[in-house]
Amino acid sequence: MTTPWGLPDFDAHEEIHFVTDEKSGLKAIIAVHSTHLGPAGGGARFWHYAKDEEALTDALRLSRGMSYKNAMAGLPLGGGKSVLLADSNRTKTPEMLHAFGKAVDGLGGRYVTAEDVGISVADMIEIARSTKFVAGLPNSGGDVGGDPGPHTSLGVFLGIKAAVKWALGKDSLSGLHIALQGAGSVATGVALHACAEGARITIADVDQAKAQKLADRAGGKVVSPDEILGLEADVLSPCALGAIFTEETISQLKVPIVAGGANNQLATPQDGERLHARGILYAPDYVINAGGIINVCTEYLGDGDATLVRRRIEGIPVRLEQIWSEGAETGRDPAAVADAMAQRLIGRA
Ligand code: NAD
Repeated sequence: MTTPWGLPDFDAHEEIHFVTDEKSGLKAIIAVHSTHLGPAGGGARFWHYAKDEEALTDALRLSRGMSYKNAMAGLPLGGGKSVLLADSNRTKTPEMLHAFGKAVDGLGGRYVTAEDVGISVADMIEIARSTKFVAGLPNSGGDVGGDPGPHTSLGVFLGIKAAVKWALGKDSLSGLHIALQGAGSVATGVALHACAEGARITIADVDQAKAQKLADRAGGKVVSPDEILGLEADVLSPCALGAIFTEETISQLKVPIVAGGANNQLATPQDGERLHARGILYAPDYVINAGGIINVCTEYLGDGDATLVRRRIEGIPVRLEQIWSEGAETGRDPAAVADAMAQRLIGRA
């Protein structure tokens, strides 16, 4: 099948900008997938790609993902994403960040940037010197903004509770066993919320010391990263990497529920069907992990306070129940239902 521009991941993106600044050495791609619901919101990733084509693929896929995530969170934002192509030494200079900020500024607010992999709050402050179309800045004035991690964790925790209610008929996590992949920012908040409600936690991280530290804090146990996906538990919560669910890993799962914060958990759309065929309830990743962008969006638009952020995050379990309910009626898997819902919301059905 031929695809527009010869790009398999092109999805009628509204704009794709290739940015080069010889003086600073900046090479970046800004992809605006959709502005149907508002300015295209999505972070900037600083990453070393073996080939430029991989950076373009990342920008195209991630920007479409942001359209879906923002729409499903009920935010007045479209979807976009940018990638800054790092050299193999990951050299990053203030001049590069300023040049990137100027490129963002040139889009006149059609794209709003924030942190993503490889871009820190300090980098965002630097970028904000060249453009006002930035979010994820430190929480200085109002009571929203700053680190999105704890907001993502809260949404994931509420999503896990909704899944437990849906699949197991239980109102509380008390006495349930949660297998947590990752012991980073999102996983930490999930573990602490869950153990405060009486759940038993088992944690794996490639950084064993980090896993142990979180286990000590949450009163949990540590297993090796190889064991976590095959663990018998009530919930598996992936909070580390993407593309972890494949035909092979899905066949090993011993849980009735998968609900976690990692982005792009399914290696392919067929893996959503595979989870469904095994009777495992899946919480689509971009729906359950929207707490962070909800906080970022509220900061950027200045349209509310911490109470509104909390209310918007409480909408995550409601959206998940809509997805599972439509899935139960139609027999389709939750990931496919979520994609179709998001496409309807952004006028791409
Ligand atoms: P983080 O870097 O703080 O934590 C990730 C952890 O995963 C690290 O401790 C790392 O050592 C561990 N890890 C990496 N590979 C692993 C493996 N194979 N097995 C076990 N552990 C492994 O990142 P984070 O901010 O907690 O994000 C976690 C995931 O959630 C990512 O996929 C991220 O894209 C997604 N996410 C994060 C946010 C946010 O607000 N931080 C929002 C939406 C989605």
